[in-house]
Amino acid sequence: MDAIPAPDEHQELRDGMRALCGTFDADYWQQVDTERGYPEAFVQALTDAGWLAALIPQEYGGSGLGLAEASVIMEEINLSGGNAGSCHGQMYNMGTLLRHGSGEQKRRWLPDIASGRLRLQSMAVTEPTTGTDTTQLKTTAVRKGDRYLVNGQKVWISRIQHSELMILLARTTPLAEVTKKSEGMSVFLVDLRKAIGHGMTVRPIPNMVNHETNEVFFDNLEVPAENLIGQEGRGFRYILDGLNAERTLIAAECIGDAWWFIDKARRYASERVVFNRPIGQNQGVQFPIAESYVEAQAANLMRFRACALYDAGLPCGGEANMAKYLAAKASWEAANACLQTHGGFGFAHEYDVERKFRETRLYQVAPISTNLVLSYVAEHLLGLPRSF
Ligand SMILES: Cc1cc2nc3c(=O)[nH]c(=O)nc-3n(C[C@H](O)[C@H](O)[C@H](O)COP(=O)(O)OP(=O)(O)OC[C@H]3O[C@@H](n4cnc5c(N)ncnc54)[C@H](O)[C@@H]3O)c2cc1C
Repeated sequence: MDAIPAPDEHQELRDGMRALCGTFDADYWQQVDTERGYPEAFVQALTDAGWLAALIPQEYGGSGLGLAEASVIMEEINLSGGNAGSCHGQMYNMGTLLRHGSGEQKRRWLPDIASGRLRLQSMAVTEPTTGTDTTQLKTTAVRKGDRYLVNGQKVWISRIQHSELMILLARTTPLAEVTKKSEGMSVFLVDLRKAIGHGMTVRPIPNMVNHETNEVFFDNLEVPAENLIGQEGRGFRYILDGLNAERTLIAAECIGDAWWFIDKARRYASERVVFNRPIGQNQGVQFPIAESYVEAQAANLMRFRACALYDAGLPCGGEANMAKYLAAKASWEAANACLQTHGGFGFAHEYDVERKFRETRLYQVAPISTNLVLSYVAEHLLGLPRSF
């Protein structure tokens, strides 16, 4: 019977990732989860092998691969039982700098990001009072000579404690003074080594998954004007430009999770004997697993469709959003089927199901909630009136 997933044209890349991920087994990830730690050894190994620099062009020290390959890297981490959420920011956050940074900024930062000397793991967009309604964000950056003074607050900003750099979205022109609410915001590269304790305070948020995420407070944080990325006032557009890659990569992580759950469930269903037969002989046990497999396969097609369009430089907003929606749904349903198949043992840490169950649930909410994907589809693909 075929392996899950079935071999594809990325097999060589998959084999390389499996060799690396295979050295970080379930015990490793369980221990990191139990300690609420950071998978430092894993992220370092991944960085040393160059995988996290997949999307950085070769001229800056990366491997210049496409989104399809990058997505396979993310998928393989989750498929191996790991959690790419600990480091996926490093893969795509640099896209803002790459697409919109000046030649000087790229030469200054990208080689160090590619080598792993500097981590750009964090992106600060979400705020406590405005949530998904990003254009209403309250954090301001006001230019004073050769620097900007940043004031405000962010929430759910991930991996700050394991990053040297952070992308920040702040308002540089008051909302009342712009013609379109999406204008007047700007993107900055914040050097966390200089910022934390000097106008920037970080407060960790204990949460359901082992995901390092934080509240952030800015009190006259000084950011050098040379760290403004692109043009002042265009920042919201720059952030949007990066979302298709982000959504597609997250979709791939979900698909990795789905394969992991499906494989775990089918093995257990074949081995566990109750009423003198494997539980997997019962259709009531088979069907949810089979259904998850069907849904994961469909999500996978949409994910590679999004990758192909993106890598060809074609518009892929619809496909990236739909891939994220389908994959997050498929992984969550696979998680549910896997937990149910394991009965009581699904709740035991030892089986690892409950950890992955918690981890994959996040992707219904972040980095974009399912409702907002559906709003995108309704408005942009179906021509329905904008709902917000
Ligand atoms: C673990 C974790 C890590 C995160 N990491 C980061 C990060 O690194 N950087 C960052 O900037 N953000 C991060 N986020 C934030 C994440 O992107 C937001 O939580 C998410 O976008 C939803 O925003 P919100 O929590 O403010 O929910 P809200 O905007 O308050 O929405 C709450 C609910 O209402 C629904 N809703 C709201 N408005 C509408 C509408 N018009 N129509 C239909 N439904 C609607 C939403 O879909 C959601 O289900 C993270 C979040 C979590 C939980």
